[in-house]
Amino acid sequence: MGCSFNCVYCYINGSKYAKETNNYYVKSNASDLVYKKLKKLAKNQERAFLNLGSASDSYMEIEKELELTRDILKIFLRFKYPVHIITKSDLILRDIDILRKINEIAILPEDIKNLKSKVCITFSFSTIDDELASLIEPNAPLPSQRLNAMNKLASEGFHVGVALMPILPYLNDDIENLDNAVKLFKKNNASYLILGALSLFGNNDNSSKIKYFNFIENNFPEILVNVKKLFYNREYPSQKYQNDIYRKIVNICKKQDVKTTMI
Ligand code: SF4
Repeated sequence: MGCSFNCVYCYINGSKYAKETNNYYVKSNASDLVYKKLKKLAKNQERAFLNLGSASDSYMEIEKELELTRDILKIFLRFKYPVHIITKSDLILRDIDILRKINEIAILPEDIKNLKSKVCITFSFSTIDDELASLIEPNAPLPSQRLNAMNKLASEGFHVGVALMPILPYLNDDIENLDNAVKLFKKNNASYLILGALSLFGNNDNSSKIKYFNFIENNFPEILVNVKKLFYNREYPSQKYQNDIYRKIVNICKKQDVKTTMI
């Protein structure tokens, strides 16, 4: 729980998942629990697509040493479960050997049994700019490293795409920037793009909202007033802002022939 990548916009800051993202701890018995659970599900023939990486990244630096994600993937393989991994890290390349085997033998749930790949990998980006990323995602591998990893994994035949989230108001949401981002994702073989708005919670010093406002004040003071206005009394940008930005991106994706759903 928690996440060493420590992105400034991370919604788990101050939440039940972690007081501070980089103050993380390891669930050392995770693979035992996964083993028990999947053994039971497989016995009952309950099939599912399993998801890794929703409120933490499965490929933080410490994973190099612990190999906890690798152990969990081996259990998925043993019980033939397909997997969807969301990550910001090229460390996932280390586990290509297991992912290949999962892709060969996993059993898909009945309602999506025609899906071509049993391994889906979504790389998460808030920007394609390495310099900006070093500021807002200080400990995560750079976008350029993620793009290389995405290319490699797509060439393996896995279903690979992008989560463009969060979209950061006044930082990465202009049309030229979005257009360039989609071009680059496509060039690196992303076959889909899903998107999400920035969400900022809480009002205490550890909360994602206050941390993000402080970050903007220190680094991009010229947009602070507008950002605060957008989040005044709410946790998401206004519905109008969200509708506008979604429409823009969906149009860009249509023009460039990139799907905006995973399947
Ligand atoms: S990679 Fe995801 S979970 Fe980790 S700090 Fe960044 S936004 Fe939070």
